[in-house]
Amino acid sequence: MSNIIAKNESVRIALLRGLTRATAESWLPFCVAIAAFLVDLFTPRAITDFYVLPIFACLGAPSPRVPLRTAALITPLLILGFFVAPPGTATLAVDVFNRAMTFVIIWTGAILTMWRLQSSAAAEKAHAEARASERRFRLMADGVPAMIWVTDQQAKVEFVNREYCEFLGITLEQAQEQGLHGSLHPVDMKDYLAQFQAALAARSSFSARIRVRHAAGAWRWVETSAVPRFSEEGDFLGHVGLSYDVTAVVAAEHGLRDADRRKDEFLAMLSHELRNPLAPIRNAADILASPAVGPKQLQWASGLIRRQTAQMTALLDDLLDLARIAQGRLALRLEVVSLKAVLDSAIEAARPSIERKDHLLTVSIPPGESMVRADPARLSQVISNVLVNAAKYTDPGGRIALTARAGDGEVCISIKDDGIGIPPDALGRIFTLFSQLDASSARIDGGIGIGLALVKGIVELHGGTVEARSDGPGRGSEFVVRLPLAACEAGASAHPPNTQAAVPTSCRVIIADDNVDAAESLAMLLQVEGHDVRVAQDGLSALSLALAFRPQVAILDIGMPQLDGYSLARELRKEPWGAEALIIALTGRGQEEDKRQAASAGFDVHLTKPVDPDIVASLIASRIWPDHAH
Ligand code: ADP
Repeated sequence: MSNIIAKNESVRIALLRGLTRATAESWLPFCVAIAAFLVDLFTPRAITDFYVLPIFACLGAPSPRVPLRTAALITPLLILGFFVAPPGTATLAVDVFNRAMTFVIIWTGAILTMWRLQSSAAAEKAHAEARASERRFRLMADGVPAMIWVTDQQAKVEFVNREYCEFLGITLEQAQEQGLHGSLHPVDMKDYLAQFQAALAARSSFSARIRVRHAAGAWRWVETSAVPRFSEEGDFLGHVGLSYDVTAVVAAEHGLRDADRRKDEFLAMLSHELRNPLAPIRNAADILASPAVGPKQLQWASGLIRRQTAQMTALLDDLLDLARIAQGRLALRLEVVSLKAVLDSAIEAARPSIERKDHLLTVSIPPGESMVRADPARLSQVISNVLVNAAKYTDPGGRIALTARAGDGEVCISIKDDGIGIPPDALGRIFTLFSQLDASSARIDGGIGIGLALVKGIVELHGGTVEARSDGPGRGSEFVVRLPLAACEAGASAHPPNTQAAVPTSCRVIIADDNVDAAESLAMLLQVEGHDVRVAQDGLSALSLALAFRPQVAILDIGMPQLDGYSLARELRKEPWGAEALIIALTGRGQEEDKRQAASAGFDVHLTKPVDPDIVASLIASRIWPDHAH
């Protein structure tokens, strides 16, 4: 029972709601209909046209149902009017006819109005959908981090997104006014316009890489791709394009091309540098082979070979060092050293280059002992490289100033010249590998563009920095090296004292090397020094020779037939005399791993070929390790 009551209640509420809504939607036509009925009550019969007015009132109704509801209301009123309206001149038949005609007109009008409202509602809906779609498109287009543009059949701009306006610093109106090429680089203009025209004529897509003027004023590279637009009927409407900033990509591509070109130049120069010493060495060899060679020619030829091989060795050493730095395998022998001692040795190394061109070198080093924690040989190499460059890139009779200052926990070494100077745009790149600003001037002195890369690598390994300064071409240059000062008391001993052993005037030496020429030439040099030298060409014969000869010094190649240098060294160390012997590895392999292996096999010293025979001789004589032994 209560269920039925509740159901009736909800039906009543629904009815009331429907009625209220119907009244709200159609109150005007209803009022006009009631007014028409009142008029009918006071009008003589046969005039019923005013019943059409409520239908007119439906024209602006929000719902197409309103005209039908109104017609449905008018119909009973029309009939009721027939009975209650005052009789006029017309007969009942005419009145009935009039009311019937009015009835037909009202319903026809109501149906037509309903259709009209229905179609305008559909149009309004389509319109609203189009507006929403446009809003969605703009929202999406403005959110894209690339420039979007739309043009018509004549390539006139119809739309550009927010990124387009922000990137070029213009408004939509300005974009429409100046067109797509308004911000284009003049050099790219002709090709771009030709490409665009061709795509317009062919109604096809196109892409281009162009420069445009950025809002900040600089030219930026932009990659543009455009596709044609067509209506549903297939009519060509224009193009829609996407452009994005590729300046960084273009710069990287240029950098790679540049690096590739520099590498090719470097290889060409390197082969030139490596071939250069070969011709004089061959000439010297020919002279030495001549039966008429006298002591003077002999001395000349050996001096020449020494100089040329030293030059080649220095070049190869630099290349090996660079490779080690690049692979993070250059190990520094760090110690607390006197800055003055390092600078003195660098000046000594660079002196021939400075004197050859008659430069005036002034040196200013802080009074008192400044100590740095550094690899003295490497640091001296850095400073002498920069000094040699100063000599090289300064006209004869120039001035070079070396100044060192210590303070604020660092030492600052400046090398200044009044030479050819460096253009400002080149200051940053001279420290990169294979960078020569003027290859012809560098070549005169045999540079190949690796010196400063090496300087930077070594300084950075020391935790320091190097910087180049110049006011431009012809205005000299300055190189500033900064290194952390060593935290130690001033005046501390720079190097551990040398422990001089008793110097034997003559030693028993064996040389084991499968390269006969290398072994015999070294043997000859050591014999000249007064040593008793024996040579073997493989590991096993070297071992049997050593067991009989009991050498005090063994110079062993590593890669040898029958028994390699490591095994041979181990065998020698087992002998009572072998424990005391100086065993030197003389090999083409100079990596850190090779040195470690040599040390664990019992070698005292590891030297990389080609080696200066003087170093071997002084090693034998003094029994200390030279600084430049690798
Ligand atoms: P290079 O073997 O050509 O000397 P570097 O790496 O030592 O190679 O130097 C790179 C380039 O830097 C040189 O080719 C030269 O153009 C420039 N440069 C180096 N030092 C100086 C200097 N003191 N004055 C002018 N230019 C210099």
